[in-house]
Amino acid sequence: MNLVLFGAPGSGKGTQAIILSERFNLIRISLGDILRSEVKENSPLGQEVKGYMEKGLLVSDELVARVIESHVKSGGFILDGYPRNLTQAKTLAEILKKHNIDIDRFIYLEANRDTVIERLSKRIVCKSCGANYHLKNMPPKEEGFCDLCGGDLTQRKDDTPEVILRRWEVFLKESAQLIDFYQKQGKLFKLDGNADKDEVFEKIKLEVR
Ligand code: AMP
Repeated sequence: MNLVLFGAPGSGKGTQAIILSERFNLIRISLGDILRSEVKENSPLGQEVKGYMEKGLLVSDELVARVIESHVKSGGFILDGYPRNLTQAKTLAEILKKHNIDIDRFIYLEANRDTVIERLSKRIVCKSCGANYHLKNMPPKEEGFCDLCGGDLTQRKDDTPEVILRRWEVFLKESAQLIDFYQKQGKLFKLDGNADKDEVFEKIKLEVR
């Protein structure tokens, strides 16, 4: 099974990707996490993408295509954060065709602006495994440390009010054509991303199993 998770920043993609990868034994490919680790290592790729990420802008389609191609070699994955626009969706289809792989479902977590702002402004993430927490609604058991791997928790640099709004605008601009692309292929599964994470997971489970 090969799944794509799509939605605005803060719609719950990362959280669902982690749950789904565990429950269905899928490889989680989070483009944001991959890029953040490149920035952390100060690699040539990291240096190239850092400025875009800090501003909340999308990195170039060509560059992220190369990153994705190096990670998607076999099936059994869940993609979180890619594709994010129509060009990327078409590129992904070409990459997958080479490996005889197909997307089963494009899962769209539809969340509204207020939800996104509320979630992201109080979000903390694990530096090691990328797990997400919320200071009020989903705090870690031990303050400052990840429940899953014990890693340090931190606030993302792009979770500032100004950058959150820019990311929301980028999402709005890019999303319609992408959703349409998968809808026409009969692969779109849309659900309410404002809902609680367990409720969202139950709905996805019913759809994909
Ligand atoms: P995320 O962790 O998914 O919120 O992504 C964080 C940042 O990484 C985004 O704001 C972009 O700068 C970059 N990024 C992640 N996924 C993509 C993508 N598919 N295309 C271009 N840039 C991306």
